[in-house]
Amino acid sequence: MADVFGPGGMIERCMPAGYEHRRSQLCMAELVEEAFHKKRHLLVEAGTGTGKTLAYLIPAIRSGRRVVISTATKSLQEQLFTKDVPFVQKHFAPELKVAVMKGRSNFLCRQKVYQMQGRPILKGMEELDWFAQIRDWERLTETGDRTELTFLPDEAELWSKLDARRETCTGQKCEQFERCFITAMHRRAADADLIIVNHHLFFADLALRQDDFGSILPEYSAVIFDEAHEIEDVASDYFGRQISNYRFEELARDAEQAMRITQQGKASLLRRVTRLREKVHEFFNLLPPQEGRSSLEPGSRAAFLEGYRSSYDGLMGALQALVSEIAALPSKPEELLVVARRAAELRAETAFLFESNEKNYVYWLERRGKGVFVAATPIDVSSILREQLFDAFDTIVMTSATLAVSGRFDFLKQRLGIQVAQESVLPHEFDYGRQALLYIPAGLPDVRDAAFVPKAAEEISRLLKLTDGRAFCLFTSYTQMNQIFELVRARVRFPVLLQGTAPRMALLERFRATPGAVLFATSSFWQGVDVPGEQLSCVIIDRLPFAVPTDPVVAARVRMLTEEGRNAFAEYQIPEAVLALKQGFGRLIRARTDRGVLAILDNRIQRMRYGKIFIESLPEYSLTRDIAEVQRFMKAPS
Ligand code: SF4
Repeated sequence: MADVFGPGGMIERCMPAGYEHRRSQLCMAELVEEAFHKKRHLLVEAGTGTGKTLAYLIPAIRSGRRVVISTATKSLQEQLFTKDVPFVQKHFAPELKVAVMKGRSNFLCRQKVYQMQGRPILKGMEELDWFAQIRDWERLTETGDRTELTFLPDEAELWSKLDARRETCTGQKCEQFERCFITAMHRRAADADLIIVNHHLFFADLALRQDDFGSILPEYSAVIFDEAHEIEDVASDYFGRQISNYRFEELARDAEQAMRITQQGKASLLRRVTRLREKVHEFFNLLPPQEGRSSLEPGSRAAFLEGYRSSYDGLMGALQALVSEIAALPSKPEELLVVARRAAELRAETAFLFESNEKNYVYWLERRGKGVFVAATPIDVSSILREQLFDAFDTIVMTSATLAVSGRFDFLKQRLGIQVAQESVLPHEFDYGRQALLYIPAGLPDVRDAAFVPKAAEEISRLLKLTDGRAFCLFTSYTQMNQIFELVRARVRFPVLLQGTAPRMALLERFRATPGAVLFATSSFWQGVDVPGEQLSCVIIDRLPFAVPTDPVVAARVRMLTEEGRNAFAEYQIPEAVLALKQGFGRLIRARTDRGVLAILDNRIQRMRYGKIFIESLPEYSLTRDIAEVQRFMKAPS
């Protein structure tokens, strides 16, 4: 690895002028190589600027094993595949075969395009025009990947009628199976040395393997998780169960479409679908009305069923009737059999959510706009992951800039069920003491005090004047974000952007392009956002990002730890908040030339004993409580 990553090594020789060798990158590459060689798990925290992608890619290739690399998002997958992989292929491994795998709904279903041609189920001129373009593209594209359709807006409903989702796929019985983009993706993966996936696809696959429902990924022998701090949340989703009014509505819509296409099942089947819609509407309207998430503990589900038994039975009966009606058709086209299979699955999941009492699951309800979601989430995924992942494979590498709390991996290991692993926190590549100033204002009230909001707005306005805007103001709640946004907007002359007023990517683009812009946002901007350079010179965080204790999943996790006689605050709530704070502050310094101010308005970080854990888990920023110091820092030449 020293020949590759060391001073004057191959990487340095291949990179454009100005590239410098990084000692943490070499160290990480050696650790990853050793993990592959000794067949052991590795946890490695590597800060921004380490160059960790190459530090795991090259040892993975040299291992000669088929390795899955799992990243947090599709855009990180793209970046890996279009930037890092070609570099490695060009300079180190020309024969390397790499495949990218994404969820099926990212790809076009050819069969749906052919079935839709000439059928009047498109809405308006815009959809007709998009469809014509998609039809032409279908003949030319090699991948069928939606990202190639730059003209199609993210929210276009048309795509949901044309994508290759499992629920509507007839598999090997489809006439297009051999030409299908999904078949092609699977074949590329089966032939690849490296397979690049995202965490969602990885855990969807792992959950399918657990239930013996087949698999998505071909066999592999090792896994590298980048952005590994996100794994518990994603795994919890995929090992849980969820139904929603949308899922029922899609089933009804697809049933009608299948009938239209196959010209089967006429009046009586149509009546079954109409009845299902009525029953879905009735049932979901009866669920508790409050917005947001609320608990559906066993007692409340039993009481609900007692009160509304006939509506529940009506819904389950309507699903069963749909299944039976399709089974009784004289000819059973595959498209309708798929609908029957989905109706049966939905019935089983609804029964699980309302009638089961699994101890390791927390049951909850969420209303979000027009959506009503009912879910069961595993309270603790550690035993599932230990069995399915860490005991099943001999080499799992986990890396991120935020894995350790006070320099230790105990929290991550406990949450994910990792028993034995090599652990390392690599030294930072940036000079944080010089590049960043951490400011904790003196004199602000406690964040829980009513006077906090106006005082925090004053403090933010003062800070923005010193940094000439160019700031992210990150909040832990929408209510506080909106209140402070209104107060600050009236006080400053900078362009102030607010989350929710435009799609996330559009807001980010506007922030990057607008001199002096300030963005007010909540948790979705705490990670995965990269704005290098002066345009982002200040990150202000309103309060320590403890998870909302009334959230049903958080409450169930706290309760479980307490029942086990453990200290849930110390072992779960603090470490989770520490990692979230590291992520949020991590938005500021993205390059060696970046400089700026970090402010936390929650003085519990200095008043409370646990505040020390937050401070010692952050990089060694310079620290001040004096705003004059902030002014001097901003005026100093970089
Ligand atoms: S195999 Fe499935 S996804 Fe592929 S074209 Fe056929 S129906 Fe569509």
